[in-house]
Order: sequence, then C-alpha cells, then structure tokens
Amino acid sequence: MLTTQNQLNVNFIGQEAVAGEGMPFSAYAPATSEALAEGFTNVTPEQANAAVDKAAAAFSPYAHLHPHKRADFLDAIASEIDALGDELIERAVLESGLPTARITGERGRTMGQIRLFANLLREGSWVDARINPALPDRQPLPRPDLRQMLMPLGPVVVFGASNFPLAFSVAGGDTVSALAAGCPVVFKAHPAHPGTSSLVAMAITTAAQKTGMPDGVFSLLHADNEVAQALVAHPAIKAVGFTGSRRGGLALLRVAQNRPEPIPVYAEMSAVNPLVVLPGAIADETGPASATTVAAGLAGSITLGVGQFCTNPGLVFLLTSPKTEQFLGTLAEKIRASAPATMLTDGIRQAFEQGINHLALMPGVQRRAESDTDAQASQNQGRPTLLTTTASQFLSNADLGEEVFGPSSLVVVCDTEAELRDCLNQLEGQLTATIYATTAELKQSSINWIDLLQAKAGRVLFGGFPTGVEVCEAMTHGGPFPATTDGGRTTSVGTGAILRFVRPISYQSFPNELLPLALQNANPLGIRRMVDGKPE
Ligand code: NAP
Repeated sequence: MLTTQNQLNVNFIGQEAVAGEGMPFSAYAPATSEALAEGFTNVTPEQANAAVDKAAAAFSPYAHLHPHKRADFLDAIASEIDALGDELIERAVLESGLPTARITGERGRTMGQIRLFANLLREGSWVDARINPALPDRQPLPRPDLRQMLMPLGPVVVFGASNFPLAFSVAGGDTVSALAAGCPVVFKAHPAHPGTSSLVAMAITTAAQKTGMPDGVFSLLHADNEVAQALVAHPAIKAVGFTGSRRGGLALLRVAQNRPEPIPVYAEMSAVNPLVVLPGAIADETGPASATTVAAGLAGSITLGVGQFCTNPGLVFLLTSPKTEQFLGTLAEKIRASAPATMLTDGIRQAFEQGINHLALMPGVQRRAESDTDAQASQNQGRPTLLTTTASQFLSNADLGEEVFGPSSLVVVCDTEAELRDCLNQLEGQLTATIYATTAELKQSSINWIDLLQAKAGRVLFGGFPTGVEVCEAMTHGGPFPATTDGGRTTSVGTGAILRFVRPISYQSFPNELLPLALQNANPLGIRRMVDGKPE
C-alpha cells in the first residue's frame, strides 16, 4: 500500500512507484533558498518509454469505459487529494513559497475542477453526438446512416506549470481534461515542486486502483529536458499539454512538428493582458468608477500572487484625461505600499529582475514606483514595480510588449485615440484584454475598441481585473499566439478544455449494437443529440 512516508520522492510508471534511475536532483524551499532533505531522481529514457508503453496499452480499455466509470475515477482523485490533508498543503507551501491560504484555496479549486469534469461526463452531452439516419430511398442516390461523436486522441503528455503547483500541475486542468476525454496521461513533473507532484500522483494512483482503472492510465515522471522531449517525440503520444515559458513551449512545439506524425501541442505561454482605460470610465470623483478606485484595484491585481499569474495585467494603456495624474499617482502609491514577497524559484525571480531592468533601461521608460521595502534576495523576493512610457516609445520598441513574469506593469500613456489604436494593433495575442469605458464613449468613438481587443485575446473583460480565472463552462483561457500555440481555438480552463484531446469520428452504416453508447438508437446515456440538424 502506498503511504506518504516512503513515496515522496518516487516516479510512477503506471501504478508502480519506482525510484528514478537517472540524474539525482534536489527540491528547494524558495523562501529560504535551502535544498530540502529528500533527494529526487529523474527517470531514464527506458523508464520514460515504459510509462508510454503502459499508457498506450491502457488507451483502448480506458477509452471504452462507460463514461460514468471515468467520472467515478475523477471523483476518487478529488477525494484522495482531499485525504492527503495538511501534508499536501505543507509540502506545496514549502516548495512554492506561496502562502498557506493561497495553496489551500488552490487545492479547493483543483478538487472543484476535477468534480466539474466528473459531472460533465455524467451529463454526457459534451460528446456532441450527431445522427443522420440512412435515407435508402433518396434520389438520385441513397444516403447511408452516418453518426458522429467526439472520441479521445490517445495518450497525452502533460507538463505542469510552476505557478499553480496544484491547479495547473499533476491533477490540474490539463491532466483532468485529458483523463475525462478518455486519454491516458504521462505527466512530466515540474522540478520546482517534485514532492508535491509525487504526493498528488500517489492520490491519482490510489484512485485508479480503487476504481479499477487500467494500469498506465496515469504516470508521473521526473525527467530532464532530453527525456521530456523524447516523450513528446514518442510515436504513441498523440497530444501535449503545457503551461510555462514561451521558450519551453516553442521547444516542445518544434519537437512535435518534426515528428514523422506531427501532433498538436496545447502550450499556454506568455501574455501581458492589456488593460485599457478610456477617460469616461474614471471620470467620477468617487465611487467604483473613480480614478482612485480603479487604480487601487489594479495595483492589487498586479501584485496578487507576486504577479505570478498568466493573467497578470502587465500592460496598461491610459488615454490622457484630466484624471491621468490622479490615476498614476494612486497606482504608484499602492505599488510603493505593496510588500515584496517570495517568488516561485530563484530562476523566476532572476528573470523578473532582469526583465524589469531591461525595460527600465529602454529610452523613454521611467521607473515610476517601486515597493518602498527592499526585497530580500536570500528569500527570492520579487519587488513590485511600476514603469511608465509614452505611446510613441511603445510603438517604436517591440520589446516593451513582452511579458515580464512578476509583480510589475508598464503603463503606456496615449495622447490620442489613434495612438491607442496603433498600440493595441501592435500587440501580440493575449489570454485576456480588459477595457474600462462607458458604453456611451464606446458608441461615440469611431474606433471599435471591443473588436480590436477581441482580435487579440481569448477573454475580453468590461471592467474588473483579469487575475482570477473562473473554472466553469463559459471560460476561455487561451488566445492567439503567443498566448497559446493553437491560435486561441481552445481553452485550458473550464469544461471546454476537454475538446483539445478529442477528435470527431463518423461511423457509417454500423449495426446498432456495434456503435458507441452515445450513438445507439435508444440513446442509453440519455444525452442531448442532434438528429438531422435538430435536437432529438
Ligand atoms: P518553463 O521553464 O517553460 O518550464 C515548464 C516545464 O517545461 C518544466 O517542467 C520544464 O522543465 C519544461 N521545459 C522547459 N523547457 C523545456 C525544453 N526545452 N525541453 C523540454 N522540457 C522543457 O516554465 P517555468 O519554469 O514555469 O517558468 C519560467 C518562466 O516561464 C517564467 O519566468 C515565466 O516567464 C514563464 N511562465 C509563464 C506562465 C504563463 O502562464 N504565462 C506561467 C509560468 C511561467 P525544466 O524546468 O527541467 O527545464
């Protein structure tokens, strides 16, 4: 029986807990920069192949399970994560440097999204069943019976994110949407939280055993980049999920595209999440639409989680108005009052500092405010920082639109609507874009601001702040490149995430009993279906 005492530093090749036979490595506590006691070991290429072989063998039996059985598996995963109790919270806090309250909330979110997918499977209509019954007497040619539904792609490799050690990691949205779809998952653990990863993998493995899942439906591997790339190149792997840096995501995309059989890579990479403020939105002297209130809320969004959110608002566009200085003054004051805090890894903090220093040295960029408490390098602390520039500088320097991952934002002050439009047109693809405006000024403007923003982003917000991604049916967490590698056609959060790991299959002229349950005449799953273009 697996216990947390002896399984913290293992890999799981299917349901077998094994020591890696590759290079050893240590986990670090970012809050103290100290190596933690337990040693970890990466898997060898042979061990990684063994995990993929098991996933390939598990695919057919797992894909053909009754969907309610897969739902039971997912629910069991949530229960087993819950059963890990404080040990999981303590380990994730230790390895990530994130506060206990944040990790506790993230565990709740993780279990919530697992159960959301279990409910999706029980409801069942997501398979998008379409039926065109045979028309044997049609002239000039008869029509065969055609039935289509979404079916799983095959084994998937998932790379966990550093910034959500639970909700975007081992049992996070990518893993759970792939498992819900019917795809076995080979998970490549993030080296910043290896113990957390092994604990959650143990929960998934126990859930798989308790619910009778085929061995190989899930594996957890600690692996170096070479082995990780070999996983993506393995012929049995049919898709990849990834959250992290642009460089990492693109490296994996190249591997996937250079295979004899290229496969989709759903990489969520970099975004600066522009927030646009038109004058009318902050014209009030007091209340929720005043310059002071919006700027204070924005400072909270910039510094939330030490800015380590993919939806962090890294770029703010202000159209000049009598309130511009009040807005900037409040934002600067709030940033100065925000305390530095521990970042996820030493590398992420260094990248943040380098990114800020790089921007601050650019012509026309001002370091407008910094936290007035010094950051402790020994504790990996990131220092909240506010930079400002003008539209003309922004337009002449593409570097100013690049992501700096951490608690900072660059405010671009635009003198005219035309300047603002040009700045927005210059942006790369984004996860989110936020606009503060009155409906009257949107209607009166000759520029369609909403159209401009939705051309760039997967989620457009009318007011509010982009941090805080609701996990639900209607969420899009994706966007055009480089927010994602798939042109923003899918989401990695919410139930729509399942669509990344399926493809439509049509069954032509099949006997009823050989069809999947979702397409059989009697509709034994009781799902919503379309028959000849109409709801059944
Ligand atoms: P990362 O360096 O891209 O790493 C993510 C995962 O991919 C890790 O498991 C990593 O393993 C692996 N990996 C990276 N490059 C690889 C390669 N060439 N071949 C095979 N595997 C590779 O991301 P991170 O560690 O989470 O954070 C680093 C930076 O990513 C941050 O500073 C930030 O800029 C960005 N980031 C962005 C978001 C976002 O949502 N926009 C979220 C998190 C991070 P190794 O660590 O062993 O290389």
